[in-house]
Amino acid sequence: MIQLIRGFKDILPGEVELWQHIEKTARSLFEDFGFKEIRIPILEHAELFARSIGEDTDIVEKEMYTFPDKKRGLITLRPEATASVVRAYIQHTLYAKDPIQKFYTIGPMFRRERPQKGRYRQFYQINAEVFGIDSPLIDAQLIFMIMTFFSRLSVTGLEAHINSLGCHKCRRNFKDALSVFLSAASEKLCTDCKRRSLRNPLRVLDCKVPSCKEAMVEAPSILDYLCPECTMHFNAVKDALKKFNIPFVIDRLLVRGLDYYTRTTFEIQTGSLGAQNAVAGGGRYDTLVKTLGGPDQPAIGFAIGFDRLVEITDLKSADFVRKPDIFLAALGEKSMSIAFEWFCAFGVDGIKAELDLNGRSLKSQMKRADKLGAGYVLIVGKKELEEGSVILRNMTTKEQTAIPIDNIVEKIKKIIDHELHGYIKR
Ligand code: AMP
Repeated sequence: MIQLIRGFKDILPGEVELWQHIEKTARSLFEDFGFKEIRIPILEHAELFARSIGEDTDIVEKEMYTFPDKKRGLITLRPEATASVVRAYIQHTLYAKDPIQKFYTIGPMFRRERPQKGRYRQFYQINAEVFGIDSPLIDAQLIFMIMTFFSRLSVTGLEAHINSLGCHKCRRNFKDALSVFLSAASEKLCTDCKRRSLRNPLRVLDCKVPSCKEAMVEAPSILDYLCPECTMHFNAVKDALKKFNIPFVIDRLLVRGLDYYTRTTFEIQTGSLGAQNAVAGGGRYDTLVKTLGGPDQPAIGFAIGFDRLVEITDLKSADFVRKPDIFLAALGEKSMSIAFEWFCAFGVDGIKAELDLNGRSLKSQMKRADKLGAGYVLIVGKKELEEGSVILRNMTTKEQTAIPIDNIVEKIKKIIDHELHGYIKR
């Protein structure tokens, strides 16, 4: 039997309802915060990611699914969303109408990482990006929005980690100090990091190899190299977080694995996922729009790991499964043909109905209705039809009522709207 690829997964009915609920919650909250949805392609030119994420990163060096397209050079299954959103902002000159734009997007990402709990090769992210705002208030507001989102989804035990990576000015001095440190620690570094410490020393800070992690504990902190403007910006982010009552930890090693970050970076971490403890991460990328050929506009964004969120929420998919409002139990051919018409009419009217098209006995149909958790059963028998009525059984109270069949769909819709949905639709 052909199985799915390692690191990929199916999201089955029974699980998917929780995913749908999370997605609905994200859309509603993000839109209340002024974000608009943007949908971007899953395939992009490989160069887009190499230029934005950076050649020396784990993602670009090792993890991208890149392959040659017939005539278009190398194309890549997107490993993240920011680069594509920035490309769209530039390509469609969205900044011309208004440089301030707020987008969100939800969808699959692909990275060829070693699969384990909380780490997949196709995983889902909920992303948000803000363009054209330099103010540190937006940095804090994004973290506030993520925390509100998690609390709406019954996720607790989170910790916000923040850092500042400064601007190019502060980074120059920091890189020099880091290089000196790395050359002294070179013995303890993996082969990749030995190479990176020469080409892109910052990337050594996010190496996942344990000996490198250990070696970096004593590394110099970028926070000691921030210029006055970046220090002020970071202080303002911290002040705003305090105003929002969001506890945070300053994490001076948090550089977040991608080259494009500047100033504020953050990660939301959980204690309940083992090694894969980040459920969301993001930061500023004030120079990326310009680097990719757009105007000089600051930007900031984040990605929430959907799969990890599903693993840590207290909500259960079963609570979001919609059970049939009504089960039509038809007995005999004539009844079946009439019940089938009603079955379709219920669907059109927004009533979730089920009909056993296999024409089994009343007993087995009732059993099925019970198993599916139907609110009502409508018994459509030969005798009932001859008498011009059908029997409606309330599956909770077990009460049975005979209802004349004229305008039956309408009548039942009224009862269901009233009894099950708690209101009468007009
Ligand atoms: P990143 O784009 O690396 O900043 O990741 C943002 C968030 O996406 C992380 O905090 C994780 O929650 C999630 N994430 C990243 N990589 C994976 C993966 N391979 N499998 C599952 N979730 C992931």
